[in-house]
Amino acid sequence: MRPARALIDLEALRHNYRLAREVTGAKALAVVKADAYGHGAVRCAQALESEANGFAVACIEEALELRAAGITKPILLLEGFFEADELALIQEHDFWTVVHSSWQLEAIERASIAKPLTVWLKLDSGMHRVGLHPAEYRDAWQRLMASGKVAKIVLMSHFARADEPDCTASVEQVAVFEQARAGLTAEVSLRNSPAVLGWPQVPSDWVRPGIMLYGATPFEVAMPLAERLKPVMTLESKIISVRELPAGQPVGYGAKFVTERPTRVGVVAMGYADGYPRHAPTGTPVSIDGQPSRLIGRVSMDMLTVDLTGLPNAGLGSRVELWGNEVLASDVAACAGTIPYQIFCNLRRVPLIYV
Ligand SMILES: *Cc1c(COP(=O)(O)O)cnc(C)c1O
Repeated sequence: MRPARALIDLEALRHNYRLAREVTGAKALAVVKADAYGHGAVRCAQALESEANGFAVACIEEALELRAAGITKPILLLEGFFEADELALIQEHDFWTVVHSSWQLEAIERASIAKPLTVWLKLDSGMHRVGLHPAEYRDAWQRLMASGKVAKIVLMSHFARADEPDCTASVEQVAVFEQARAGLTAEVSLRNSPAVLGWPQVPSDWVRPGIMLYGATPFEVAMPLAERLKPVMTLESKIISVRELPAGQPVGYGAKFVTERPTRVGVVAMGYADGYPRHAPTGTPVSIDGQPSRLIGRVSMDMLTVDLTGLPNAGLGSRVELWGNEVLASDVAACAGTIPYQIFCNLRRVPLIYV
């Protein structure tokens, strides 16, 4: 059997969820969209179900998968419905829906609603992706309240730059939010993971942690709270071939790496078809039997090469950690010019083993 696999530590997931609750004192929707950032949405939701206040997903397809697996806690659709006819399923399964656009508001006004909805009304406080304009926010709230089709409204917005600790954009977004919601009596929800970890002063009845649940920091700089996260996924495999090369020999596609000295090269059963980033350059950290080493040469589809020079005990069958507790996914992502969100979401082909 091919030794490539991803171990998923559900106790670490629970630890990270509790951390989000503890540091904010807020209720927390565990964001499990995109198959829980590659960690398996059903298994992750089941692991959190007894203590989570609820879950958040990107679309009704993801929400239905959780309900079908027996998840009974609230599930928020982060972009609401994409077509008005989803409102029937939203009622049937008790989903909570975001309203981010006036067409969604009108669809609710027109729909026949037997069971009043829970709506998270989204304000565009400066990110300019989705959300109602500040000038139309209060009117939208009043129309929903007057529609008779809504039981509860939570006021929400989303940060564009919360992962930049010295940037004032988040403070400005909070000010826009506060002004737009002045006088409206309702719970509020603003904070994603970087805002949970880095912006303690932001008001929150509800927080929406995603990446931090999986134990990766959204920050490029060190943050004290991020040190308390526990990595959930360990991506590992084994050395399947070893060769000793003299100086001056190319390794792998494109001969992008040429040995500078006599080098012991290990071949690992892991490649970009598993989701390991192809753009990870020579020097990207790996851990071999617990010892730090580095990727060398180009990542291929099913294999990659590592430097075993200086690791005399490492060889055929040695365990290689691509990311996990020894090598942080956020460091691998940074080397590859991307973010841990993307390298988790890209995971495929490798079996997920829950521990
Ligand atoms: C994905 C998402 C989150 C979670 O973001 P993280 O940075 O992973 O914590 C929160 N809120 C909304 C609206 C989202 O789309």
